Amino acid sequence: MAQLAITGGEPTRRAPFPSWPVITPADQAVLLEVLNSGRWFLADKVASFEKAFAAFQDAQFGVAVSNGTVALQVALEAISLQTGDEVIVPAYTFIATASSVAMVGGIPIFADVQPGTYNLCPDSVEAAITERTRAIIAVHVAGRPADLDALGELARRHKIYLIEDSAQAHAAAWKGRKVGAIGDLGTFSFQASKNLNAGEGGFVTTDDRRLAERAWSLHNCGRAPEGAWYEHPLVGGNYRLGEFQAGLLLSQMGNLEAQTARRTRNAELLTVLLGGIEGVSSLDPDSRITTHANHLYIIRYQAKGFGGLTRDRFIAALQQEGIPCSSGYKPLYKEAAFRTKFQDTSLVSPYFKGKPDYDRVCCPQVERICAEEAVWLTQNMLLGPEDDMRDITRAIRKIQEHAGELGN
Ligand SMILES: *Cc1c(COP(=O)(O)O)cnc(C)c1O
Repeated sequence: MAQLAITGGEPTRRAPFPSWPVITPADQAVLLEVLNSGRWFLADKVASFEKAFAAFQDAQFGVAVSNGTVALQVALEAISLQTGDEVIVPAYTFIATASSVAMVGGIPIFADVQPGTYNLCPDSVEAAITERTRAIIAVHVAGRPADLDALGELARRHKIYLIEDSAQAHAAAWKGRKVGAIGDLGTFSFQASKNLNAGEGGFVTTDDRRLAERAWSLHNCGRAPEGAWYEHPLVGGNYRLGEFQAGLLLSQMGNLEAQTARRTRNAELLTVLLGGIEGVSSLDPDSRITTHANHLYIIRYQAKGFGGLTRDRFIAALQQEGIPCSSGYKPLYKEAAFRTKFQDTSLVSPYFKGKPDYDRVCCPQVERICAEEAVWLTQNMLLGPEDDMRDITRAIRKIQEHAGELGN
């Protein structure tokens, strides 16, 4: 008789995991308030949200923008990135981390990640620095702060900027301080999947007044903060956030701390439960991470604990057991986008010793993680009761016991 759901047996779990977003009466109230006010553009809600979210992330200044991708573009333009400047990014991230660099005329240079953290490896970053390197974009992948001590030290020593792509890391903290303005600039996303969500939205944080003023100007048609409406000292875009989204973000922010705490509790329990199963593990603990945002829970899978069952077959089996999961990112330098972007360029990159040629890039850790190790669970799965975590590990144990029935 079939045991595993993938071969026709009963799934471990039929109940859905908590849905996302979580909608409250406060959300309805604020949206009606904005609607009825008739003030749908740059008014109280955007101003209040900018203040509240910057303070929440321990940043002195904040600019609300349309999404996390343009937040990165604004941050890069705020540091006056020039055409042909190189920016080091991890090869394990969402495409926007690297495409934003190319969008503003820079050359993305991909560095490898650490096997135990999936975040930028400082040695790999240092090896990629050239005389044209202007910035490092550290991504807090899965909501886990990158090593801001090592990367900050590296940036200072080489006199380059450190930008924190915190799109997955609302509320995350490094040594007691929230991420976003530990580096020179930070960026956030409020796209639908993120831990703070208004469908779309983004944010730039910094403690540097000059960078904050440039970011504000760049997101608002190049106007000056104190200047006249039809006076434009810079060339800027319109990357403003609307009042409806800012209002919704203010009300959604009311849930963020409690949701973060619940994800933390469930993630810690899941880590303990996984610790008892051979062939699966969690990323390495680090006492400097004082809050993990758990945008994703990443399981490290080893086929040898499952009789050689491949990671992709394991994922298919786990999904059938009623546990939604996925394999996540691909090595970013393999995307056609970067090859296409630079194929006819006249730019000369010191890193590539010629024109950018992404076919030559290889980050061994990222290759291995993407091909055979990573299993992603999304943040909403950590918002329910503890028993949900037990269902996840029950399903994994069941697959382990019956792996022989699956072939590879
Ligand atoms: C989501 C995300 C972005 C882009 O944010 P959008 O609001 O979708 O444009 C950038 N970087 C990372 C790491 C992300 O996860």
